[in-house]
Amino acid sequence: MKFKTYRRVESLDEAYQLLQEDRKNMVVAGGGWLKMSSRTLETAIDLSALGLDRIVAGEDTIEIGSMTPLSAIEADSGIAALASGILSQAAGAVMGLSFRNLATVGGSVVGKYGFSDVLTPLLAMGAELDFYGEGRISLEAFLKKKGRTADILKSVIVPRSLGPGYFKKVRKTRLDFAALNLAVVTTQRGYRIAVGSRPSAATLGEEAMEILNSADTIDEATIEKAARAVASLKYGDNPRASKAYREHVAYVYTKRAIEEVRDCED
Ligand SMILES: Cc1cc2nc3c(=O)[nH]c(=O)nc-3n(C[C@H](O)[C@H](O)[C@H](O)COP(=O)(O)OP(=O)(O)OC[C@H]3O[C@@H](n4cnc5c(N)ncnc54)[C@H](O)[C@@H]3O)c2cc1C
Repeated sequence: MKFKTYRRVESLDEAYQLLQEDRKNMVVAGGGWLKMSSRTLETAIDLSALGLDRIVAGEDTIEIGSMTPLSAIEADSGIAALASGILSQAAGAVMGLSFRNLATVGGSVVGKYGFSDVLTPLLAMGAELDFYGEGRISLEAFLKKKGRTADILKSVIVPRSLGPGYFKKVRKTRLDFAALNLAVVTTQRGYRIAVGSRPSAATLGEEAMEILNSADTIDEATIEKAARAVASLKYGDNPRASKAYREHVAYVYTKRAIEEVRDCED
């Protein structure tokens, strides 16, 4: 990707105004994915002077600045303590460390990439997004919106009241994109299950959540039903895996995930 001009903005308002002025102006975070494109844009908006690369642990939430690199998420002890460390594991599963030092959580979320490993645990954890412009919105609602946002993501907010969790990235080799990724978390409202790289972006396994959360006990029959429901979500083919393979691994890892999370809770 090429830019005609580059602006290291001094305020969120400056960034926001630039973004509204021209659809060919764009925020550049780590630039990891943007650099793959062959487009020429007007202005690259650099947010690196705004202090958005901090992780702040509050009483009820952990707020992750949008410019936080994936390596910092992987290394943060507060995040590692949440939901059996599923977000740290997902961040650590992306490429190599030098790449994770530049790729940001903001770029991963706003890009809504189907393959994203961090979107899946964030969705399962019930994360919220704080935008300059739109304000706060759940990640779930954001992922359902069509098109590119014209707002600036300030931070990703994760609740701390989470029980045990499970994350799995299914891939052929260590540095590969996911053929499928899956996250299961217990929250105050019960189980939440998210599946990504289907190959489309992460979605909640709502039917499976309903099966688990309305059951008296999480026995083998209930787990089987929930796993079947996750396997019947919408999957497709791409060079990483076939639809049939995705359905099969979704079934197998959902069973494993629920059993593991249930046994941790006991
Ligand atoms: C070879 C390669 C392999 C990869 N493998 C994986 C993988 O296995 N798993 C995985 O999850 N990811 C993978 N990625 C993706 C990587 O994690 C992305 O680079 C990252 O998700 C995007 O983050 P970034 O900081 O590089 O964003 P950028 O590329 O800078 O930006 C991405 C998009 O987000 C927008 N944006 C960024 N920040 C903001 C903000 N604060 N507000 C508004 N808009 C914003 C940009 O305008 C752009 O549209 C891979 C990338 C590459 C190049």
